[in-house]
Amino acid sequence: MITLGTASAAPGEMDVGRLEVGESRDGGSVGLPVAVINGASSGKTLYMQAASDGDELNGVGVIQRVVPQLDPAEISGTILVVGIVNYHAFQVAQHRNPIDDTKMNRAYPGDERGTSSERIAAATFAAARDADLIVDLHQGSTSRMIDEVRVRCGRHHRMHAKCLRLAKTFGCGYVLDQKGPDGQLARAGPDAGIPTIDPELGGCVGWDEESIEKGVRGVYNVLRGYDFLDGDVELEAQTRARGFDQYGSPVGGLVRFKRDLGERVSAGDVVFEVTDVFGKLKARVTADHDGIFWRARRLPQVASGEYVCSVGIDLDTY
Ligand SMILES: [Zn+2]
Repeated sequence: MITLGTASAAPGEMDVGRLEVGESRDGGSVGLPVAVINGASSGKTLYMQAASDGDELNGVGVIQRVVPQLDPAEISGTILVVGIVNYHAFQVAQHRNPIDDTKMNRAYPGDERGTSSERIAAATFAAARDADLIVDLHQGSTSRMIDEVRVRCGRHHRMHAKCLRLAKTFGCGYVLDQKGPDGQLARAGPDAGIPTIDPELGGCVGWDEESIEKGVRGVYNVLRGYDFLDGDVELEAQTRARGFDQYGSPVGGLVRFKRDLGERVSAGDVVFEVTDVFGKLKARVTADHDGIFWRARRLPQVASGEYVCSVGIDLDTY
């Protein structure tokens, strides 16, 4: 019998339930929706979660499509799923947990006696730390972003090669290989000896079909590539960035981009222009380094100093 919260499944079975993470302000129990898929044959354990940031719904879209397609009779090993991590933020369609105004992906590995986010991190990490692989489904929030997979342990970490392999297996085409900030699950997982990736499935308000489809394919690639399911995965070379140049606007006005997501940028190319309300050019911003146009703000209006876009730099393929 494998149990996660109130979900428990014998070999060849699956179950859904709730993982209790505390109480809401009215004293009611707060439980995250969870699923356990216990394969008929033995094998590895995959832990997968979505909506660690409450406005990042593409991962929920992936889980909502993958789980009904999984047949425990065909699976070797176990798949543990937390469908919505940032319960409080999800309820109000916000990025951060409104109870403590914290970003969940800075709270790992968590603290069971800490803040609301730390308690949720602790409860989910308790499940994740028994796994052999961790997939933490994110997206570029509501910005526009390419589909990519992040490896956050840093290149000197003992789990780096295994995380890169997992990212390549997921196979979005792009990988960001850069040590992340403290408190990310993609840092805490490798520190516990578990290969961990943070797929970033585009960026949108609500759901983006194309990014969800890539996520579904990525999860299936992992299931086949790590022998949860029969079949092979053809590993494809990934374009890797090892950092970002982030661009803000030097002036206030309206942004017009000169590059599309995924396009190559050379140092000196114009990346975006800013005009005033009457269309008069106020500023033209050029790239500092060669790279790939990676992420862009959604709304055209900017104040001086406000974030505009990111270019992935220090590129190679692996
Ligand atoms: Zn996120």
